[in-house]
Amino acid sequence: MKTFAYRTAAGLSDGLEPDAVFLAGGTNLVDLMKLGVATPDVLVDVTRLPLGEITELPGGGLRIGATVRNSDLAADPRIRGGYPVLSQALLAGASGQLRNMATTGGNLLQRTRCRYFMDATKPCNKHAPGSGCPARAGDHRNLAILGGSAACIATHPSDMAVALAALDAVVRVDGVAGERSIPVSRLHRLPEDTPERDTVLEHGELITAVELPALPFATRSAYRKARDRASYAFAVGSVAAALDVTDGMVRDVRLAFGAVAPRPWRAFTAEEALLGRPATRESFLAAADAELADARPLRDNAYKVTLLRNLTASVLTRLAEEETR
Ligand SMILES: Cc1cc2nc3c(=O)[nH]c(=O)nc-3n(C[C@H](O)[C@H](O)[C@H](O)COP(=O)(O)OP(=O)(O)OC[C@H]3O[C@@H](n4cnc5c(N)ncnc54)[C@H](O)[C@@H]3O)c2cc1C
Ligand code: SF4
Repeated sequence: MKTFAYRTAAGLSDGLEPDAVFLAGGTNLVDLMKLGVATPDVLVDVTRLPLGEITELPGGGLRIGATVRNSDLAADPRIRGGYPVLSQALLAGASGQLRNMATTGGNLLQRTRCRYFMDATKPCNKHAPGSGCPARAGDHRNLAILGGSAACIATHPSDMAVALAALDAVVRVDGVAGERSIPVSRLHRLPEDTPERDTVLEHGELITAVELPALPFATRSAYRKARDRASYAFAVGSVAAALDVTDGMVRDVRLAFGAVAPRPWRAFTAEEALLGRPATRESFLAAADAELADARPLRDNAYKVTLLRNLTASVLTRLAEEETR
């Protein structure tokens, strides 16, 4: 591993040297450093900043500090009761030990698990711009069917981010230019011809918190994850959903897909197709079809279209049944 300097962040407005990066739980960044994919000169540890609390927002909703650990967030009674989809998504990710280290900010900014990206000896437009994308002709079984480009078809691997996108969560960011807010569903960029930039963040911008708006029907929400083994594996497809049904009709719905795009994929088209429709499996399948009409699968990942269709119908059907109990 390349040698590097280490310091703790002095304060929220602490600037970043050009070749410095923030370090939180280190469960992704340190792995990438060991692999030679990330080569920072300086690590700036943010875990001692006062960002470790979950607090209630004045108008309802919750503010989750950026260094709140994934285990603590999943176990918080306000999350388990008010936003079960988020708790379930967190518990579906990684392992207990990793969740004890991983933070809210770091989880959002974890990088793709594309095997070529994680191998510093391979060409890859994301870690070496202009070197090519071997995944298109090579191993793309778990890569994007939505939102990819000729330059990159990487998927974003976070489970938590999919739930946050469905819940209309907003990322609070602080930097030398001041504070700003970014919806989670717009934090990650689509690759187009510059896949080396994962997000819309500028160098030195620190995630300070994630704000969850009040969403009363999120008490009826769920996360469903398909993966190659029952635990300790990244998703090959996932769905986060919240559903509000009155007299058998969909009154409101939130839906996001995971592991199918370079960002957690908020399924706005499917949501629109469902409003005012009967809360039936047929409607849910038709809504998924509307969202997936733009899918552009490659040789080995077309299975994801069917998978997402079935996951969507399954999770929404279960939520609709809960509503009528
Ligand atoms: C074996 C294994 C299995 C896993 N399985 C899953 C899984 O199934 N599902 C899943 O979702 N995840 C999974 N993960 C990933 C894990 O969830 C992430 O590694 C973790 O959430 C990253 O959080 P961290 O705090 O350790 O981030 P770090 O590794 O410290 O940082 C990650 C990135 O975020 C940046 N960063 C951190 N905090 C901030 C901040 N506040 N502001 C700005 N930038 C910041 C860092 O500079 C770095 O670029 C797995 C990881 C491993 C090793
Ligand atoms: S899909 Fe993206 S990350 Fe993977 S090899 Fe291609 S350019 Fe690199």
